[in-house]
Amino acid sequence: MSKTKVLLAIPFVVLGIAASACANAETQVVMLGTGTPVPNGERAGSSIAVIYNDEAYVFDIGAGVVQRAIQAYEKYDIDALYPTRINHLFLTHLHSDHILDYPELIGTYWWRREQQIQVFGPDGTQAMSEGANAMLAEDTQTRLKDKSPITNREAYRANVTEIDSPGVVLAENGIKIEAFPVSHGDWDKAYGYKITTPDKTIVLSGDTSFNEEVMRQAEGADLLFHEVISHEGWQELSEDWQAYHQYAHTLTTELAELAQQAQPKRLVLYHVLHYAAPIEGVVDEVKAHYNGDVVLANDLDIY
Ligand SMILES: [Zn+2]
Ligand SMILES: [Zn+2]
Repeated sequence: MSKTKVLLAIPFVVLGIAASACANAETQVVMLGTGTPVPNGERAGSSIAVIYNDEAYVFDIGAGVVQRAIQAYEKYDIDALYPTRINHLFLTHLHSDHILDYPELIGTYWWRREQQIQVFGPDGTQAMSEGANAMLAEDTQTRLKDKSPITNREAYRANVTEIDSPGVVLAENGIKIEAFPVSHGDWDKAYGYKITTPDKTIVLSGDTSFNEEVMRQAEGADLLFHEVISHEGWQELSEDWQAYHQYAHTLTTELAELAQQAQPKRLVLYHVLHYAAPIEGVVDEVKAHYNGDVVLANDLDIY
């Protein structure tokens, strides 16, 4: 082939890539909350949204997350993150920092919502949802009785599925969401999730101690979002708190070992417990034992 022909071929290759990216509706991940139970003015409670094909798949719903979703809708022009457009919620476990905005999500503008929210979570999710309905009962009953023109009279209630066993939770329109068991203190059922779309494989650890199943699921993933606790911060805690955190969370040193085995293309640290140590230190702590790509997530970051 002559040099001229090679050069001519390039624009067609570039056009081909652009066209297929549009057709496949590129997957985006938006950090709606990177916090923990420790109060923090800059970080909402835990939540990660995967946006695919104009739909938002939201994982956990900690305090302040609905406000973050509205901010992301405005900042990035992602319609799927408008609260009444959020139709899918997946819960890792029911610790407060992962669920406190649940009533906010189901209650916000529900009278203009077209669809009931589909909620997937561990045992207890149905009871939690009924509790939120009880809390909102005066609102919903009044709106149902008065002159509000309600779009869908069932939309105040979520449609809850409790996940009995690991595996595929939802597969639709090119996206597949699988739950896998993790180890988080005394929780009988706590889940991590693997999300597969035509262009990305994404793994979320949820809250977990060092866990080989997360390692297995994350092998070769494009993005691994993993919780972590700073070794420096942990060392300064009392012995009983040190013991609890080792039982329930993953130290930076342990996460480095996991990432070394799994080799995700990018490791994103979220839900960072750091206590007296500076939060940025966790990146250096992981990098001291792992030479892959590691970043610290902040609220409203997008991948
Ligand atoms: Zn948590
Ligand atoms: Zn937790």
